[in-house]
Amino acid sequence: MSIIAISEAKKQAQGAVTVAGFVHNLRLKKELAFVDLRDASGIMQLVFEAALAPAAFAVAENLNIESYLEVTGELKEKPAKKGQEEAPKDYELSVSEATLVTKSAEQLPIPVMQKIENEASLDLRLDYRWLDLRKPEHRLVFQVWTQLEVGCRDYFLDNNFLQIYTPCFMNTSSETGAEVFEVKYFDRKAYLSQSPQFYKQMAMAAGMEKVFMVGTVFRAEASFTTRHVTEFTGWDFEIANISSHEDIMAAEEKMLIAGFERLQAANLPIEIELPSAPFPRWSLKLAKEKLAAIGVKSEKDHDVSPEEEREISRLAKEETGCDFLFLTDWPVEARPFYHMRHEDDNNLTKSFDLLYRGVEITTGAQREHRIEVLEKQAIEKGMNLEELHDYLDFFRFGCPAHGGVGIGPARIIMKLLDLASIKEACFLPRDVKRLNP
Ligand code: ATP
Repeated sequence: MSIIAISEAKKQAQGAVTVAGFVHNLRLKKELAFVDLRDASGIMQLVFEAALAPAAFAVAENLNIESYLEVTGELKEKPAKKGQEEAPKDYELSVSEATLVTKSAEQLPIPVMQKIENEASLDLRLDYRWLDLRKPEHRLVFQVWTQLEVGCRDYFLDNNFLQIYTPCFMNTSSETGAEVFEVKYFDRKAYLSQSPQFYKQMAMAAGMEKVFMVGTVFRAEASFTTRHVTEFTGWDFEIANISSHEDIMAAEEKMLIAGFERLQAANLPIEIELPSAPFPRWSLKLAKEKLAAIGVKSEKDHDVSPEEEREISRLAKEETGCDFLFLTDWPVEARPFYHMRHEDDNNLTKSFDLLYRGVEITTGAQREHRIEVLEKQAIEKGMNLEELHDYLDFFRFGCPAHGGVGIGPARIIMKLLDLASIKEACFLPRDVKRLNP
C-alpha cells in the first residue's frame, strides 16, 4: 500500500491506510503502545496492541523519539476527550504492520518537539538544521516563502516577463562596488557574482524587454548583522522602455502585492497585512528632514544608517499605514556609476531603496543606457574603463532605456514573520563563520 499524508488519512476517516513519519511522542504500556506520528501534514496517534499485532508491537517497543516509522493499519475514530465532545472528529490508526525505517539515536543534540522553555541557541539550531526544520513553525518559513514567490512569479508571467539565469562565475571582480569572493578557475581567477545586474542589462541590450530571475548572490563582506549573509537568494527584474525609476517602483509594487495576495490565499497560520498601491515615496531629502524633526541624528547626508531606516519606516507607517516605503532620489555619491541622473539635478540619481518594516529589501534604479554618459560617469567615479570593457560593450550597438531592481526575499520573510535574524529565513545560511552543514 502506498504511503499517504496523515492529513489525507484523516480525511479518508475509515478503512486501511499506510502512513510514515517521525515518532513525535511515545507511551509504552505492557500490552499496549501509543505513538504520535508526525509527517509534514500533521500528527496522528498510532495504537499498537501486542495481542492483535505482535510483530508491530515489537517494533513499537524498540522506538526512540524522532525515529522514522512506516505503518499500515485501520483508521478508527478517536474517542472525544471529556468536555471536548463538540470538537471536530479526530482519527487514530490501529496498527497491523510496522517498519522501523530508521532508528534515531537516543540523545538528540537539540530538542525537536519536547516542550521546553527556551529553544536552543540559533547557532546550535543551525548546526542541526535538519532537526530544527522538523518543527512546523520553522518549516512555515519556507511555506511562506514558496507562496510569496509563486505570487510574484505570477505577476511576471502575467506581464510577459522572460525568466533568465545568469552565471555566478565572473571574469572581473567588482563592478558594483560590493566585495567579491575570488575562486580558482582552471589556470586563472574567477569571481563569484555579487549581482546579476550587468547580465540583466545585457538582456535589455538583447531586446528581451522584460526579464526576471531568481538566483544566488555572493557578498564577501565581513558583516555580523542580523540582515546580512554571505550567500543569498536574490529576486531581480529589469524592464525596457521606461520613462523613469517611477515605472520600476510601480512594477515592484504590483509584484509584491501579487505575492502577498497569493500568500493570503494560502491560509497559512500567520498574520498578513495586505499592502495596497501606491506605497509611499519619500525622497531621501524629505526623509532626512522628517528624521531631523524627531531628533534622529544623521551620520551621513547621502546614506541612511540602520537606525534611520527603522525610524523612517516607523514614521511612514504612522503617517500612511503602509509597511513599505520607497526612499527615492539618492545623491550621486551614494550610488554606482551606472545609475541614471536627473536631468534637472545632476547630483541626484533616478534611484530608490524599498524599506519594509524598518529594513532595506530592495535597491532599484533607472540605468544609464547612453554609452557616452555611462563612460563619463564611470570615469568620474574613478573606474577603469578597460576593466569595464565587456559591460560597456553592451551599450555600443543600440539599447533601450531601462531599469530594474535587486530584491532580498530572505529579508522580506524575516520581517514578515518577525524573525530575529535573516539566517532563520535561509534554508542553510552562510555567514563569515559558517560553512556547514
Ligand atoms: P545593505 O546596504 O543592507 O548591505 P546593499 O545596499 O549592499 O544592502 P544591494 O547591493 O542593493 O544591497 O542588494 C539588493 C538587495 O539584496 C538588498 O536590498 C537586500 O535586500 C539584499 N541584500 C544585499 N546584501 C545582502 C546580504 N549580505 N544578505 C542578504 N541580503 C542582502
